[in-house]
Amino acid sequence: MKSHYRVVVVGGGVVGASVIYHLAKFGWSDVCMLERSVLTAGSSWHAAGGIHALNADPNISALQAYTIDLLQEIEAESGQDIGLHMTGGLTMAGTPDRWEWLQSAYRVYQSIGISDCRLVTPDEARELNPIMSTEGLLGGMWADREGYLDTTGTVHAYAKAARKRGAEYFEHTKVEALEQTGDGWRVQTDKGTITCEHVVNAGGLWAKQIGRMAGVELPVSPLKHHYLISDTIDELETLSFEVPMTVDLEGFTYLRQDQKGVLLGIYEINHEHWAMDGAPWDYGMELFQEQTDRIENELILGFERYPALQNVGIKTWVNGAFTFSPDGNPLVGPVPGKRGYWCACAVMAGFLQGGGVGKSLAEWMIHGEPEADVYGMDVARYGKFAENREFIKQTTGQFYSRRFVMTYPNEQLPAGRPLKMSPAHDAMTEMGCQWGNSWDLEVPLYFATKGFKESPSLKRSNAFSLVGEECKAVRSDVGLLDITGFSRFEVSGPNAEAWLNNIMASKLPKPGRAGLAPMLSEEGKLKGDLTLFNWGDGTWWIMGSYYLRAWHMRWFSDHRTKGVFIKDLGEDWAGFSLSGPNSKEVMSKITDFPINELKFMGCASMDIGLISAKVGRLSVTGELGYEIHCRMGDHIALRRLLLKAGAECGIREFGFNALLSLRLEKGFGIWSAEFTQGYTPGMTGMDRWIDWEKEQFIGQAAAIKERDGNGPSQKLVMLEIDADDADASGYEPVWNNDNLVGFVTSGGYGHTINKSLAMALVNNDLTNENQKLKVHVVGVEKDAKVIQMSPYDPEGLVMRV
Ligand SMILES: Cc1cc2nc3c(=O)[nH]c(=O)nc-3n(C[C@H](O)[C@H](O)[C@H](O)COP(=O)(O)OP(=O)(O)OC[C@H]3O[C@@H](n4cnc5c(N)ncnc54)[C@H](O)[C@@H]3O)c2cc1C
Repeated sequence: MKSHYRVVVVGGGVVGASVIYHLAKFGWSDVCMLERSVLTAGSSWHAAGGIHALNADPNISALQAYTIDLLQEIEAESGQDIGLHMTGGLTMAGTPDRWEWLQSAYRVYQSIGISDCRLVTPDEARELNPIMSTEGLLGGMWADREGYLDTTGTVHAYAKAARKRGAEYFEHTKVEALEQTGDGWRVQTDKGTITCEHVVNAGGLWAKQIGRMAGVELPVSPLKHHYLISDTIDELETLSFEVPMTVDLEGFTYLRQDQKGVLLGIYEINHEHWAMDGAPWDYGMELFQEQTDRIENELILGFERYPALQNVGIKTWVNGAFTFSPDGNPLVGPVPGKRGYWCACAVMAGFLQGGGVGKSLAEWMIHGEPEADVYGMDVARYGKFAENREFIKQTTGQFYSRRFVMTYPNEQLPAGRPLKMSPAHDAMTEMGCQWGNSWDLEVPLYFATKGFKESPSLKRSNAFSLVGEECKAVRSDVGLLDITGFSRFEVSGPNAEAWLNNIMASKLPKPGRAGLAPMLSEEGKLKGDLTLFNWGDGTWWIMGSYYLRAWHMRWFSDHRTKGVFIKDLGEDWAGFSLSGPNSKEVMSKITDFPINELKFMGCASMDIGLISAKVGRLSVTGELGYEIHCRMGDHIALRRLLLKAGAECGIREFGFNALLSLRLEKGFGIWSAEFTQGYTPGMTGMDRWIDWEKEQFIGQAAAIKERDGNGPSQKLVMLEIDADDADASGYEPVWNNDNLVGFVTSGGYGHTINKSLAMALVNNDLTNENQKLKVHVVGVEKDAKVIQMSPYDPEGLVMRV
């Protein structure tokens, strides 16, 4: 072991091994992995080894597909047998809604390029897996690239392949402490001290402790998980093929062949956390006693689904632990505020996702950014609030128990909520506000009468008309929306302007003005769809999506220069948006500020009643509107004042569901849909806001290359869809003469223009108005056509009034 490495990876499970393999593969071979025991000694050795191509998050699916493709490569490269059995896989649906969801998911997989799957009838499924009873099943999805592997062999294959490329690893070397130095980290082990530039926490079951060694509190916890291995099943002895990896969603089980028996794994509704502060250091390669009482119901369902199990014994029980984050996705990337400290942990399905995690992390460390959009597993998607033990317990438990439970797109899950509430929360609840959740905050979705319950649905729900009425009120009179759920950063200091000029690709607004500001990565991909406010007193605000607060702050901090102060105002400021044709009249009643002088995209500090507010004249609804920001404690007073002043102008409170519909009618894109770090300014129309004359900004060279080259192959368009009872939501495929030509970025219903709309990225040659296309909506093919980008008020006249 040397005394210095460029990178030290802590943990020799499947994830750590994949990280050193990818680092060495991409050119950083001065790396070592330290393992306190032997390779695989955490959760890796006793995993079921199952690999499924499919995941609810398309970006994670893509990384899983990468991992599956990689497996044979590392086997060949290392010379280590990984026992890969590509049996194919079945995912079965047992309720009408689930079957509808599966058909819809099948189309999404087509969109993201997973083309080796198909829908099957129960009879076909029975032929593919003859030991499965199809009782109660409505259909399923077959995927070619699913199966199982030998877990120990796979970890050794990653490690050996990494070693061949120059990386090192050492077993029986425990990391005991981490200390940040001026230029990296001092890693204290039981075999001596090593220094390094970067340290990677791939500690699996011990990730929590390895975080704490660096003063990082990670939102991760182990939970227990069971599978059983049966004795030989006669039917399997006579089959000429192995039964496929089979997931029975309504039965909460997965099954694969194991020699001439089967392995049946259970996602337990009655879950059990274990060692929430991380596994004990003396925890070896032992298992827990099986807890059959706790999983009795799922076992009954499993034995009914596979009746042969009723006639054979159980050879082995495995009750082991593995780790979960609140949303079940890994925690990967640079930890905010800890230079050189990286995470590759909370990987729930290491054999399936480990390859993609290793690849993304290695690219991130070497090139500064991963190639794919990995926001879904970025460690910075959580903030401080997620360090809370009860929050972690509720959310990880909810994820685990609902692993195979269907979640509808309009469903609001209860774990970890309510947490932060804007001050006017109770008064709004009194008025019938239905709440959703963004990061730690409760945000208004829509208002309903007492006792109203929204039915979970893949289609338009019973809240459809309520949202429609709110949209109409905004368009015809004036609407009031709690916008505490926007992010606000204050930038000040002598170099604030120069810093903003470099970090934003747009022209900076003049004093008293606001402006849209795309923010780019060096590679010219989007990093933000922000709004800049120049308050004219040397302070600036950056506003964006609330749930990206920590993610954006990490980017700002990483690029901060001397003489620049950046403050996240999210705990101090709140606000309301007032929008609609009567909004100016309401404003004129409550402020002495010459409101007529505040033009479209103007901003000013002003008194509103007793409240010292900051106001921007803009609205995401596309109407004449004002965003009014106040101190958190003034929120209740501001709402009362606005409602009172607006009473004669037809004021009505509305929620984010209406806002999403209104912005769609205007063709205003939003982050995570039209704008992601996977897309470029040219693809999304964000290039309109780039200041090409500027001397320098981050991402400039790449943006110019895109502008002056052949341009992007796909562009954003607005589609009108011939849909009746359901609207597109995102990632549905777009077809032209049976050719896949794009995908939906977001969709919904335009209540003012009475049309089902979707924004979509489609091939360049199909972007002209009236181009006829087809789109799958909830699994059913619908006619669609390209229409103008802003179907409501195309010239943007009303917002400029
Ligand atoms: C019953 C069961 C079934 C499963 N089935 C599947 C499946 O079918 N498919 C799938 O993809 N996944 C499955 N999993 C999950 C899978 O096991 C994990 O996702 C995977 O093992 C995570 O790997 P890891 O490298 O992150 O963590 P681990 O395997 O826990 O590795 C972490 C390593 O870090 C080492 N370490 C910790 N602290 C230190 C320290 N201070 N110094 C040095 N070394 C340290 C540990 O000894 C350990 O070897 C299953 C898990 C269980 C429990």
